[in-house]
Amino acid sequence: MDHLITNLEQRDPEVAEAIVNEARRQHTHLELIASENFVSEAVLQAMGSVFTNKYAEGYPGKRYYGGCEFVDRVETLAIERAKKLFNADHANVQPNAGSPANMAIYLTALQHGDKVLGMNLSHGGHLTHGHHLNFSGKMFQILAYGVERDSETIDYNQLRQIAERERPKMIITGASAYSRIIDFKRVGEIARSVGAVHMADIAHIAGMVATGLHPSPVPHAEFVTSTTHKTLRGPRGGFILCKQSWAKDLDRTVFPGIQGGPLVHMIAAKAVCFLEALQPEFKIYQQQVVRNADALARTIAAQGFRIVSGGTDNHLFVVDVFARGITGKQAEEALDRANITVNKNTIPFETNPPFIASGIRIGSPAVTTRGMREAEMEQIGEWIGYVLQEIEDQSRQKGVKEKVLQLIERFPLYLSRQRIATPL
Ligand SMILES: *Cc1c(COP(=O)(O)O)cnc(C)c1O
Repeated sequence: MDHLITNLEQRDPEVAEAIVNEARRQHTHLELIASENFVSEAVLQAMGSVFTNKYAEGYPGKRYYGGCEFVDRVETLAIERAKKLFNADHANVQPNAGSPANMAIYLTALQHGDKVLGMNLSHGGHLTHGHHLNFSGKMFQILAYGVERDSETIDYNQLRQIAERERPKMIITGASAYSRIIDFKRVGEIARSVGAVHMADIAHIAGMVATGLHPSPVPHAEFVTSTTHKTLRGPRGGFILCKQSWAKDLDRTVFPGIQGGPLVHMIAAKAVCFLEALQPEFKIYQQQVVRNADALARTIAAQGFRIVSGGTDNHLFVVDVFARGITGKQAEEALDRANITVNKNTIPFETNPPFIASGIRIGSPAVTTRGMREAEMEQIGEWIGYVLQEIEDQSRQKGVKEKVLQLIERFPLYLSRQRIATPL
């Protein structure tokens, strides 16, 4: 990556230094935040391209500005590849992130004040599924379904009962911290039976859906929204898939409804990401992501920690650390000092405030991209257990940090070894 910042180093040494330091931080820490990943150099290059200079309001073939022939080319490539990857009728690749993608569905399918049924946020749902400070919670009447107390898996009977009683206009599936397979087909049937639209938000599991490792919601939902930067391992961004009958209304909501000129450099990078995801190696990667999450969860459970729902079917899981008397916040901070990055997370039926939380969320996509496999997961899982067992013991944190620094030497990321050794 050095060549990408040589010019910047001369122009703006302060920003260049921050970038190099961030690259070094990414290299020297074990990234277990479930929503993060490391993009390829090809994706990075497309993001840093001259397409950032171009205004291209509109869609391929129908732009408000001249000079869009190459923009049309990359946006068409991105659309066609997204449709192929997910076997969808229609794709809109312009949303700047997952949240505006979701906003586009609300504004396409609903009227202000309509009822929406989404997953309880403390059971795994996302801000845009109805948090009171988010547009979704402010503009719509939000109802929530959750998980069952004992299995901690989605309570589809409760979902059906609420849907039948309340007759929401839209039902949302998808989550940010749910480790089990989601039955999109079943929710699609419930939605149809009560006359609701079904929106599936696959921001987290898109990589597994694309490779057939998680059942696809595409046949069972009017709208599917996603990010490109989580398991899909692309640039920070969003996209939407929908049935043909909604295509025109949806496109009009994204532009001019919500956004102005699209971020063409990011669309170019999304096209690269979709191409990468269409390759056979990407399925092998996703299979390893799932195996690694499972290996990590088992190792941590074997040391006496409770995993929410008992395990994982996908790329992430939540550990109930409060069952061992420590808070999510304490666990996050202790692991951070050992160069292991996780995030505190609420657990179902949470009793602590969200900024304290009873759990930590752990995900395997980023470490799997670095090439780590089950053996490394077992090692990391043991370190996590060791640190959490004596949360105040700084010497444990230091000892693990040394081991992490040895491990990551075998899995280099972006920066050349020489560069890491010699600060600016
Ligand atoms: C991450 C996420 C989003 C939003 O993504 P941003 O790009 O951060 O706006 C939406 N839905 C779910 C379920 C997510 O996990």
